[in-house]
Amino acid sequence: MSDTQPNTHGSSRYFESEEQTELLKRGLVRVSIAAAGIDPLLDKRLNELRRALRSDAPAHLLGELLPDLERAVLAADQNRQQASSDTSKAVHKLIEQLQECEPPREVARALRALERQLGELAELPRKLPSLLGELQQLQQQALQHSEEQSSSGLWSRLLRRKQRAELQAGPLSDDEVAAPAAEQAAQDNTVASPPPEQEQEQEQPADSASNISGEEQHFSQLAAHIESILLRLLSELQVLETQQAARDRLREQVSKGLNWYELTAALDALCDLVLGAQQSRQADFERYLLQLNERLSQFQGNLEEAQNSYSGSLDAERELSGTIRGQVQVLNDSVRDADDLSSLKANVEARLNSLLENIDKARELREARDSEVAERLSTMVERIQAMEVEAQTFRHHLEEQRQQALIDSLTGLANRSGLQQRMDEEFERWQRYGGRLLLVVLDVDHFKSINDRFGHLAGDKVLRLIAQQVSRRLRKTDFIGRFGGEEFVILMPGVSPEQGIVALEELRSGIEGTPFHFKSEPVPVTISLGFTEFTRGDSLDSAFDRADKAMYQAKELGRNRVVHAATS
Ligand code: GH3
Ligand code: MG
Ligand code: MG
Repeated sequence: MSDTQPNTHGSSRYFESEEQTELLKRGLVRVSIAAAGIDPLLDKRLNELRRALRSDAPAHLLGELLPDLERAVLAADQNRQQASSDTSKAVHKLIEQLQECEPPREVARALRALERQLGELAELPRKLPSLLGELQQLQQQALQHSEEQSSSGLWSRLLRRKQRAELQAGPLSDDEVAAPAAEQAAQDNTVASPPPEQEQEQEQPADSASNISGEEQHFSQLAAHIESILLRLLSELQVLETQQAARDRLREQVSKGLNWYELTAALDALCDLVLGAQQSRQADFERYLLQLNERLSQFQGNLEEAQNSYSGSLDAERELSGTIRGQVQVLNDSVRDADDLSSLKANVEARLNSLLENIDKARELREARDSEVAERLSTMVERIQAMEVEAQTFRHHLEEQRQQALIDSLTGLANRSGLQQRMDEEFERWQRYGGRLLLVVLDVDHFKSINDRFGHLAGDKVLRLIAQQVSRRLRKTDFIGRFGGEEFVILMPGVSPEQGIVALEELRSGIEGTPFHFKSEPVPVTISLGFTEFTRGDSLDSAFDRADKAMYQAKELGRNRVVHAATS
C-alpha cells in the first residue's frame, strides 16, 4: 500500500506517520551523537545528517546525504578493523618480548593464555582494557623476577652455570693433578680429568644446562677466562708490603667467583694496587734522585772547601816564605851593621827564635789544613761508595724489571717482546756473519678443545708442560719464545734444514709420546711445526711468513707433523 492511496483514516494515519518520522529523526540524531568520535570523516557526515534532520530538510536532500554517509561508515569500519589488527600485533609483540625475558613459569603460562585470547579480532576493542590490565600485571611480575635475578648478579648466575657445567665436566685445579705413581717422569705432565661417569653426564644435556643459551655459555667461558687471568695477574703482581693484605683479600675474592658488580669493584681494587705500587716505585725513584742531587751538591761543597783550604795553605806558605825572607834580610842587615859581638849574638838569637817560631806555626797550620782536607776527602770517598752501592741496587732493580718485562709469566719463556728482541739479535748476527739459521713456528693442535673439555686452567698447565718439554729437548744455542696463545717460535742457529727436520721430528714425537694425564685418563697432546732456513735477501718477516705458512700446511695435512718450507 502506497502512501499516496486515499485512506479512510487518512488524516490520523498521516499524523501517525509524521509522529513516527519525528521519532525516527530524533532517534537518528541520538544515534549519530553516540557514533561520534569513531572516525573523523564519519563524524563529518553524521554532522551533516544531524543538521539536515534538525532543519527538517526535505526527504530528497536527506536521501542525497545517505550514499556519502554509507561510504563513510564502510571506511570507518575498515579503519576500525585495521586498528584492531595493529593493536593485536602490538600486544603480541609485547608478550613475545616478555617471554624472551625468561619470566617465571607461571607468568610464561599466563602470557600464553593471554595470547590465545587475542585471537578474535572483532572482540578485541571490547576486551582490550581487561587484556591490557592483565598484561600490565604479568609484566610487573616478570620484571620483579628479573630484578631478583640480577640482584643475585648476572655474573654469579653465569658463574653458577659455569660451575655446574664444570661439575659435570669434572672440576680442574692444580691440586687435583694426579699422576700414575709409576710414571715419575710423567708427573709434571699430568692434568686432572673428570671421572668417566661424570663425562657421560656431560654428554647428556642436563635440564639446567639445556636452558643456557649459546650467548650465555660464551659469557660463562669468558667469566672463567677473566677469573684465571685476574688470578694470574694477582699472583704475579709485585706489590708493596703495605698492599699485600689487600692483594691477598682480592685474590681470595676472585677465586670464590665474582658477580658482575663485584667484578667491577675487583678491577677497581686491582687498578688501585697496580697504580699504588707503581706510584710508590716512582716515588722511590724520585726520592733517590733527590737524595743523589743533595749528595752531589754536598760533594761539590766539600770539593770547594778542600780547594779553598788548599789554596789557603798556598797563601799561608807564600806568606811564610815572605816573612822568612824578610827576617833573613833583617838578620843580614843586623850582621852587617853589628858593632860588637855580644849584641850581634843576642840579635841573631832573637831573630832566629822568631824565625823558628814562624816556621813551627806554619807547620802546625799546614798540618791542621792537611788533616782537614784528608778528612773531607775520606768523607767524600765514603759518600761516593754509598752512592755507588745505591746506584748498583737501582740498576739491578731496573734490570730485573726489564727482564721481567721480557718474560712470559705463564711458561717462563721469553714473551713476544723477548722473542722479538732475540730474533732481531740472531737476524743481525746472521746478516753480519752468515751461517745457518732456522726459524720454526710451533702450534699446539686442537688446543681449544683441551680448554673446552678440561677448562682454561688445565689448558694453561698443558702450555707450561709443553714449554718445559720443548725447552728440555732443545740445544743450548737454540732459543724458544712464546709468540702468543698456544704458538711458539724457535730459533736454531748453526743448524741445516736436514738436521732441523731430524731435531724437530724428535721434538714432535717427544710431545706426542709424553704422557699428559687428566686424572688417570690420558689427554692426547700433539703439535704442528713449520720451519724454514734464512736465505739471502730474507727479512725477519719474510722468513717468519714462510715458516708460518708451513705450519698451516702441517695443520692442513692432518696436524702432528713437521713441514719444511724449502727456499729454492
Ligand atoms: P688448531 O689445531 O687448528 O691450531 O686448533 P686450535 O684449537 O689449537 O686453535 P685455535 O686458534 O682455534 O684455538 C686456540 C685456543 O687457544 C683459543 C684460545 O682460547 C686458547 N688460548 C690462547 N691463549 C691461551 C692461554 O694462555 N691459556 C689457555 N688456557 N688457552 C689459551
Ligand atoms: Mg694457533
Ligand atoms: Mg692451535
